[in-house]
Amino acid sequence: MGCGCNKGKSTGGSKRANSNLKQNESTPKIQNEPSFPTIPQLSTPVSRPVTEDSEEPESQKGKVSFGDKVKNFGKAVVSRATQGKADDKLVKLRVLSCHGDDEVVSCPYRKPSNVREGFFYCDACGCGDKPRAFLNNPDNPDAYTKLHYPWVSCPVRMPGFGDYKPYAEETPEDIEKYKEGMERKKLVEIVLKERGEEIPPAYSPTKNGDSE
Ligand code: SF4
Repeated sequence: MGCGCNKGKSTGGSKRANSNLKQNESTPKIQNEPSFPTIPQLSTPVSRPVTEDSEEPESQKGKVSFGDKVKNFGKAVVSRATQGKADDKLVKLRVLSCHGDDEVVSCPYRKPSNVREGFFYCDACGCGDKPRAFLNNPDNPDAYTKLHYPWVSCPVRMPGFGDYKPYAEETPEDIEKYKEGMERKKLVEIVLKERGEEIPPAYSPTKNGDSE
């Protein structure tokens, strides 16, 4: 399944995406010199997002609750069953949200897999370092990754995801909970605006919207 990073393809766009992923994997993030606002590199290690629940087990801190994880996974499965696959434009937005590109640093919650070299997973969604939750597949450009579900959730509600929420509408509590990710979202929105790319609003996992 293609991860949207297009690693392995021969087109110019895929070469750039491939290069971006390689850069994210093996070298420090290097800020380019773009002509519009850029995302500052994170120079310090990113801590797992803070949660308000002091009773939450240490291993689950900063992750989506089990109930929400089940609910979101169900929505993603329903969307796949009814619609198949997200369109390329949406996947491209999600790739930017998770992996970044030449100008946008990768998401602080995107982590390299410990079981598959070259693969990445989201450490905030609670799905874990598992094949079905990988955000890319460098071995198979046609693979169906987490970013290919027609509807899929993002803990930071980043552009391209089914539960996208503009930074301006986030509550102070949610901004604090995912601080680094939220600050990055604010800047990603600025970059997309400068690029003239529209961000689709949040939407239902089904075409007729009857499952929300
Ligand atoms: S928090 Fe959202 S943007 Fe970041 S890695 Fe997870 S799914 Fe991707």
